[in-house]
Amino acid sequence: MSRYWSDVVKGLTPYVPGEQPKLAKLIKLNTNENPYGPSPRALEAIRGEVGESLKLYPDPNAERLKQAVADFHGVTPTQVFVGNGSDEVLAHIFLGLLKHEQPILFPDITYSFYPVYCGLYEVAFKTVPLAEDFSIRVEDYTQPNGGIIFPNPNAPTGRPLELAKIETLLKANPDSVVVIDEAYIDFGGETAIPLVKRYPNLLVVHTLSKSRSLAGLRVGFAVGDAALIEALERVKNSFNSYPLDRLAIAGAVAAMEDREHFDTTRKAVITTREKLVADLTALGFEVIPSAANFIFTRHPQHDAEKSALALRQRSIIVRHFKAPQRIAQYLRITVGTDDECAALVAALREIVGA
Ligand SMILES: *Cc1c(COP(=O)(O)O)cnc(C)c1O
Repeated sequence: MSRYWSDVVKGLTPYVPGEQPKLAKLIKLNTNENPYGPSPRALEAIRGEVGESLKLYPDPNAERLKQAVADFHGVTPTQVFVGNGSDEVLAHIFLGLLKHEQPILFPDITYSFYPVYCGLYEVAFKTVPLAEDFSIRVEDYTQPNGGIIFPNPNAPTGRPLELAKIETLLKANPDSVVVIDEAYIDFGGETAIPLVKRYPNLLVVHTLSKSRSLAGLRVGFAVGDAALIEALERVKNSFNSYPLDRLAIAGAVAAMEDREHFDTTRKAVITTREKLVADLTALGFEVIPSAANFIFTRHPQHDAEKSALALRQRSIIVRHFKAPQRIAQYLRITVGTDDECAALVAALREIVGA
């Protein structure tokens, strides 16, 4: 704390990302990265961009990328907003679309960046408890609100919500923006993007960090009615004209175009997840049904924090959230390669003594 800080900074509680250890040879299952790596076509496009052209600013509107996203999802470029990771896209959404008189609503157990943005932009919020089984009850989101946001599948539970329920929510809240953060949708959920045509209050957020294995490139986007997108453009153009650099635009366009790499790798993750769930269940773990590239699990007889430490001693890192209390006995484990998951299961077999 310093007397030079502004009041808003004094009051911030920043988000703490999962650690990125410098040690090699760790089995890193703590930040939901994709083990298969980016599309080779994306890497080639990035390499092709390295040269003299870097002396020039990139396209401030990243038109090529908006077009590639629009082509992939069957919308128009005016319905697409792109940003420096979906975290930046979300930040602009909180300021541009969710800051109103009424508090916004999100689940009590969800992506922990949401309350952080509320702190930064002074957005009022109210959390809505998940059901006992960690599902989102859309009936609980009918109270007056300034907007609604949650991930589908939810994080860190991995539980998906059916599209019909999202439609119910949209119908019940015609005066609020409903933001569906689909960071993990490609691993088994059903995207709400086709509903954008019919619901001018729906905004769907995607990232290239997870299913396209480009966490290091920092690219995310939002799809919604052109009027919602315009609000985000106004915020972006009041903040940073060039959030996406030339390498990011080139790589992201190629990644969106390489449907084959996208499909094989996301299917590989899904297959490995199903095996991991079966193996952990056999060891006595309870696993929340997951449609993500991670699972959320507890062992009724073993303390989660101790298990996470024991895994770390075996060079495997997973994520454990101490708070909120309700999830303190759970571990969030990223689905790695088959070999990584086999090593994880072997280590947990020792730890739980099964
Ligand atoms: C990973 C994640 C993001 C952020 O993704 P980036 O594009 O890497 O910033 C957003 N929302 C949820 C729920 C996530 O898990």
